[in-house]
Amino acid sequence: MKYVLGKNTTANLETLIKSGIKESAVLVSLVKEFIGYTPIDFCILENGGYRTAEMQRSLYDAGNSKCDGVKYKSEHQSGLAVDLVPWVNGRATWEKRAAFYLSGAFTSFCRQRGVDITTGADWSGSGIINDSNSWDPCHFQIHRFL
Ligand SMILES: [Zn+2]
Repeated sequence: MKYVLGKNTTANLETLIKSGIKESAVLVSLVKEFIGYTPIDFCILENGGYRTAEMQRSLYDAGNSKCDGVKYKSEHQSGLAVDLVPWVNGRATWEKRAAFYLSGAFTSFCRQRGVDITTGADWSGSGIINDSNSWDPCHFQIHRFL
């Protein structure tokens, strides 16, 4: 089954371009191409693209991020990170199995195109998912290379 990016997802994805960093534009392009190949539908929520320090702080205060936005900044604040959330049965879900499936598919897709990304499903880069370094499987960040 082929999927298309929804209107809100597209808008939330394109917030990354605000950073003006070339890698952000690469990440946006990768996600736009990936929707044509993904084995599972996904969405990007309002806080899933670029974040201001205030947006980051509110996620931290709610217990949804380990980065407070000031002392510990998120790559969302630099426009280098995106959260792809599985879309199942008409709603966003953080169900782990769906998130790991999507994580593996997007990571492979990017690497196939010569772009190395870090996934929150494998913060250590060990190649092992579903361990103690797998606490944010919807998160992806691109490395600066341009
Ligand atoms: Zn994230």
